[in-house]
Amino acid sequence: MLQLRNLLFTLCFAISLSLTGQKKAVFILLDGIPADVIEKVETPVLDEIAQTGAYTRSYQGGELGEESETPTISAPGCMNLITGTWGNKHNVWGNSVKDPNYDYWNIFRIVKNADPNKKIAIFSTWEDNRTKLIGEGLPEAGNLQFDYAFDGFENDHETFPHDDTRKFIFDIDEHVSREASRYIKEEGPDVSWVYLEFTDDMGHKYGDSPQMFDAVEKADIQVGRIWSAVKDRMDTFGEDWMIVITTDHGRKPEDGKGHGGQSERERTTWIVTNRKDLKPSFHENPPVVDILPSILDHLEISAPPEIEANLDGKSFIK
Ligand SMILES: [Zn+2]
Repeated sequence: MLQLRNLLFTLCFAISLSLTGQKKAVFILLDGIPADVIEKVETPVLDEIAQTGAYTRSYQGGELGEESETPTISAPGCMNLITGTWGNKHNVWGNSVKDPNYDYWNIFRIVKNADPNKKIAIFSTWEDNRTKLIGEGLPEAGNLQFDYAFDGFENDHETFPHDDTRKFIFDIDEHVSREASRYIKEEGPDVSWVYLEFTDDMGHKYGDSPQMFDAVEKADIQVGRIWSAVKDRMDTFGEDWMIVITTDHGRKPEDGKGHGGQSERERTTWIVTNRKDLKPSFHENPPVVDILPSILDHLEISAPPEIEANLDGKSFIK
């Protein structure tokens, strides 16, 4: 009888732990991979995550022919993702990021505003994501500070000597994804962004090519490191993690080299997540701006009403 009581106690404890598992999220942006390419190339890690949750085609570029139409370029595409709004609001139209409008808060600012104890982290092959798009430390961007930032290696010509092959970008992606994995596994930050770039470089250089497909396979391995860390956190600490992987734009239909326009191939992107309980809207070509409200939903965090009212996306979580 005592044994049964102990067993029941352990069971209840385990159930309450899993019910109260802390909500955490990591989103990964793999630069410039069209949906048809991600679907064609072997990506066992993305497949595994999609089998846990789901895969869908989605779109970037704002609403075609409307005020919100946004160039299919990296910085605007990233900004669409992290603010849940299009270019006519966040005002990032190109990679020079001239005059961002920080009135449309990014996900990190929303999370820190809701709970200053939440830990935020960024792991990125492109430092501008933190310094310009998020505007870390800028008063007009809310004086936001990351608890952990691992980026800027593209400025370190000594450790990562630059050359035309762009191998140094692959090396930085390796460095960044390994550290993202280590840090997530050990520290379990509440919200993290991982940005990896090499796929875009191979797209620009070779277009639709074995080199591009190889870069996608390499990116899948890098995602695998982070997915392993997430699984480890779920198993070890009973945390409830949402992982989202997406891209910032597709590529030109003719050869897969350039991007920036509004052709269907440049606009057509994709989303992979481990979340199972998805609304039908997830499978109906959702815009990238749906990701921010979905992550907030997962974290059970609300944006301030004026920020929420201006979001261009809707949560795809049930
Ligand atoms: Zn890009």
